[in-house]
Amino acid sequence: MRTIIKSNEIYTEGGVLNGYIIFEDNKIIDITEEVPVGEIIDYSKYRVIPGIIDIHNHGFGGWSMTDPANKEDIIGFCKSLATVGVTGVLPTAKEEAFVAIHDVMQSDYEGARIHGIHSEGPFWARGGENTIGMTWPTPSLEETKRLVELANGSLKMMAIAPELENAYDVIKYLHSENIKVACCHTKAKSQQIHDAERKVKLDIATHLGNGMQGIHHRDVGALGALLLENNIQYELIADLNHVCSEMMQLMFKCQPYDKFCLISDSNFMAGLPTGRYIRYDREMFSDEKGLILNSDGRICGSGKWVLSNMEKLEKIVKVPFEEIVKMASLNPAKFLGINQNTGSLTIGKEADIVIINHDYEVLRTYIQGKIGFDSAINKKEDFYNHEAMKKKIAEL
Ligand SMILES: [Zn+2]
Repeated sequence: MRTIIKSNEIYTEGGVLNGYIIFEDNKIIDITEEVPVGEIIDYSKYRVIPGIIDIHNHGFGGWSMTDPANKEDIIGFCKSLATVGVTGVLPTAKEEAFVAIHDVMQSDYEGARIHGIHSEGPFWARGGENTIGMTWPTPSLEETKRLVELANGSLKMMAIAPELENAYDVIKYLHSENIKVACCHTKAKSQQIHDAERKVKLDIATHLGNGMQGIHHRDVGALGALLLENNIQYELIADLNHVCSEMMQLMFKCQPYDKFCLISDSNFMAGLPTGRYIRYDREMFSDEKGLILNSDGRICGSGKWVLSNMEKLEKIVKVPFEEIVKMASLNPAKFLGINQNTGSLTIGKEADIVIINHDYEVLRTYIQGKIGFDSAINKKEDFYNHEAMKKKIAEL
């Protein structure tokens, strides 16, 4: 079936176009200013952008990837992401969810495409944040091999603190298995970051600025060292709770936009009504600003999603929207090596297309040419996990 969408603002890889985007079955077949023959869906006043690819997402709409999960949870998660324009995702999962994610990936499922599993840890250290009472295992090759085998070929990225003993062995092994290495929750000094980059190579910084030592004028810390390196990508949580606007401006002065991948780092409470929840024996709070705190008052991921953060980047940080769109779609697609097929509105690529209004809300999401969400027909809540919604115990 052929679909023709008209818009004054189509964000193609080559620039913004006032015209038509045409796709047939799952592929974009034309993007043109000429009026095509056929039935035209008129979204003239709205923006047409490529589907968002979120490489760091622990949960959304009541669905959690960092807890025991079954296939229903994974599919619910993928479907709910279409409500916020996400068409591709790396579920950031605990091992209890690996098998179910792998099984779903082998099946014919609806919703955002899973491009692999992201394991944030387990080999962490804590630096630059509230650290009371948290300990983590030291890096172990055996344990890493066990996790890689458990994921059965689906592990795409693992985050590790590179300064820890044995971390280099783990990083070398991950690379030999074609798994991306992220530098995460780390106590590293600047020199330890440079050493790791020289000796074993870090592919990406996990949520740049968070979970690491920040920049001081006598010591640039892990953040400064990561920004000084030229062959590393950066995850960025642009919700303005995790990193302030001026720090983002500083980051973009150090490195070009094409090094940054916008991530949500959301957990299951994102999208749900704000309040106090008890789930999986943990108590957490979420507020309107998108802050999620645990009972110690520590930030536990974000209650916002990438599209919401794109608004902040445009309106407050003043980044051109064309660049923001690339940070949300093309840069993560390139990082994952899937940009031949998706990540931008380009003829020949998959029809992963999102139509948004000027309040940064999704009107319609197409995933590989199929409608995953349509605000004229669907309610977002219909995609949420209703059991999770019952776990709300109080307003804030
Ligand atoms: Zn995370």
